[in-house]
Amino acid sequence: MKATYDQALEYDKNDPLAIYKEEFYIHDSRLYMDGNSLGLLSKRAEQALERSLNDWKEHGIDGWTDGQEPWYFLSEKLGEMTSPLLGAKPHEVISTGSITTNLHQMVATFFQPEGKKTKILTEELAFPTDIYVLKSQLALHGLNPDEHLQVVKSENGLTLNEDTIIENMTEDVALVLLPSVLYRSGQLLNVKKLTEEAHARGIIIGFDLAHSVGIIPHQLHTIGCDFAVWCTYKYLNSGPGGVGGLFIHEKHHGKKPGLAGWFGSNKVKQFDMVHEMTHADTAGAYQLGTPHIFSSAPLIGSLEMFHEAGIENIREKSLKLTNFLLECLSKEDLTSTFEIITPLEENSRGGHIAVAHKEAARICKALKRKGIIPDFRSPNVIRFAPIALYTSFEDVWTTVQSLKEIMNQQEYKDFSNDRNVIA
Ligand SMILES: *Cc1c(COP(=O)(O)O)cnc(C)c1O
Repeated sequence: MKATYDQALEYDKNDPLAIYKEEFYIHDSRLYMDGNSLGLLSKRAEQALERSLNDWKEHGIDGWTDGQEPWYFLSEKLGEMTSPLLGAKPHEVISTGSITTNLHQMVATFFQPEGKKTKILTEELAFPTDIYVLKSQLALHGLNPDEHLQVVKSENGLTLNEDTIIENMTEDVALVLLPSVLYRSGQLLNVKKLTEEAHARGIIIGFDLAHSVGIIPHQLHTIGCDFAVWCTYKYLNSGPGGVGGLFIHEKHHGKKPGLAGWFGSNKVKQFDMVHEMTHADTAGAYQLGTPHIFSSAPLIGSLEMFHEAGIENIREKSLKLTNFLLECLSKEDLTSTFEIITPLEENSRGGHIAVAHKEAARICKALKRKGIIPDFRSPNVIRFAPIALYTSFEDVWTTVQSLKEIMNQQEYKDFSNDRNVIA
């Protein structure tokens, strides 16, 4: 009964995480396969936000220290709550900023070009904002990005070869920035191996965990990677614009932040209001200004579920979901129509399955008409992200059936093959 409706039901019946689905707001007539772009709202996240709003209502200014969730300590508390997902010590993680601002902070802190070591190494499939950050940081040092940004090439435009990355860790490289999971193809890189190879060459290494936090267990402390950044509005379901996070290994604590702001202060001294800053001796030192409380609060409720469910169990179900998706695609003979661009080996796969088709933009529009929310990445990629906490195996089965209908009936021809403003 491989890749059948009955098998989907059987998997759902025996799924220990199935209980979480009802904690989320899921539209009756929709199937949401886009949780890797914006995770859905859960009731617990909503309640956590309401508690913070109520603290404001009740306490005014005193909400900073006297509310149910005192705002003054919220970033540290959320850092601590996120740390098990990263295999980090609580004081190595802080909830702050966005990937973009945290990357600026980390590169400003760690990139100190000296002597021969004047280059930053990254890769050509990187998310655009990461590249913009690196180029602008180089420019601030008066270095020409054309010369000093070393960009690893992809052989097929979809995935990276780890040996090629390592070969590019040359003597002139000071810092490496890589994604844990490539946002388009969903390839998972070996964070441990790449960290060891960088360190063996005296290179600082950091990772963008946008597509692995909340889905793949990490061991950042033990591996010893220097820094990492992530967002929380994707797999962690914190809501649009939810506050991101950063990890900085404790071996670097005390290192002067490249960018300083008063919320990076030692919390006891912060309100001394003096012009000589005393930095926190934790990851908190790399914060800038007043935290965005209402964009942080939902995460309190959301993270509770990750702790209860367990990140190892989440990864196990996620792989089972993506395996089932692959089996259904193959069973319905869609693997000849679509090119599967996500690596098939489990230890090279993140949380989504990406397929390529030249009509991808309008196939996505046809899926939406059927109530299935996929995600299109220009120019020709569709990503399907079944989410361990709220996607069932039945949902996956239905998605593939709809895709089959759209292809067989050429339903996509009702739409134009261009992307919407947000894709
Ligand atoms: C989503 C994503 C971002 C977004 O950065 P923000 O600063 O949160 O807007 C950055 N990098 C990667 C790899 C992403 O997937």
